[in-house]
Amino acid sequence: MSRGLTGLVLKGYGARDYALTLLSKQTITPHFVRFRFASPALFQEIEWHPATWLRFWFPDPAGSTREWQRAYTLVAAYPEQGEFEIDVLLHQPPGPATVWFEAAKAGDKLTGTFLGSRFRMPQPEPAGFLLVGDACSTPALNNIIAATQPTTPLEVYLESSSPQDDAIPVATHPLLNLQRVPRRGPESLLAAIERRPRAGWFAWAAGEAGTMKLLHKALKTEHGFDKDSLHVQSYWSETGKH
Ligand SMILES: Cc1cc2nc3c(=O)[nH]c(=O)nc-3n(C[C@H](O)[C@H](O)[C@H](O)COP(=O)(O)OP(=O)(O)OC[C@H]3O[C@@H](n4cnc5c(N)ncnc54)[C@H](O)[C@@H]3O)c2cc1C
Repeated sequence: MSRGLTGLVLKGYGARDYALTLLSKQTITPHFVRFRFASPALFQEIEWHPATWLRFWFPDPAGSTREWQRAYTLVAAYPEQGEFEIDVLLHQPPGPATVWFEAAKAGDKLTGTFLGSRFRMPQPEPAGFLLVGDACSTPALNNIIAATQPTTPLEVYLESSSPQDDAIPVATHPLLNLQRVPRRGPESLLAAIERRPRAGWFAWAAGEAGTMKLLHKALKTEHGFDKDSLHVQSYWSETGKH
């Protein structure tokens, strides 16, 4: 099996592989499905935090010996059982990950590599959280919402690419202000975010690469966040580039 340049780089960093066995799948919405995996060795070596993610290696749908790496958030972890869950957006057009998940059944096996998942909930608790995401970053957003104290306000902007995306469940919180934003190109999400002072707040954003590039700049230059109060990450690319 070949893993291309990404595989070589990960090997260079000494990243370890973990065997993953699919235990079950549960449909949350027709295009958003929860998968539970067993990987006892993973939890002997890693500590789970909100929005922790793992690199999965998928076979080439075209049947070559190449494997493709795609990342997914461990939306729930059960370290004592050596198990975890991920929530997967089954999007169109499908790529190697979506193809695999659509056909997957209990007992199927994959390999995961753990490297690069660095986000930690800010301490002390910020004055508020500005959370910006889309369907595929909802699992991470849900982790952050669940880990936020009940007295801390949360402003959430969630981009949807289809009416189906609005059916994906968002975690509840007493001070959650959720706004759904239909995607109309890379700028629409940024344009929806209210411009107002948010002193002492922390901003977390993940979604489409072009959108995140614009957002990263604007959160710093127009919304008053800096590198210590900001986490922005590209989760997928509209151009399909990895
Ligand atoms: C740190 C991290 C954590 C992530 N966590 C999750 C998670 O918990 N759940 C989850 O579902 N995804 C998550 N993602 C996103 C997921 O890795 C990407 O969507 C991935 O590209 C899907 O791979 P694929 O092989 O199915 O499609 P690809 O081969 O990447 O792409 C095929 C086609 O699908 C399009 N596409 C890819 N992703 C999306 C998308 N999200 N929405 C719409 N169109 C898309 C591409 O533009 C392309 O046209 C995460 C990504 C990162 C970096």
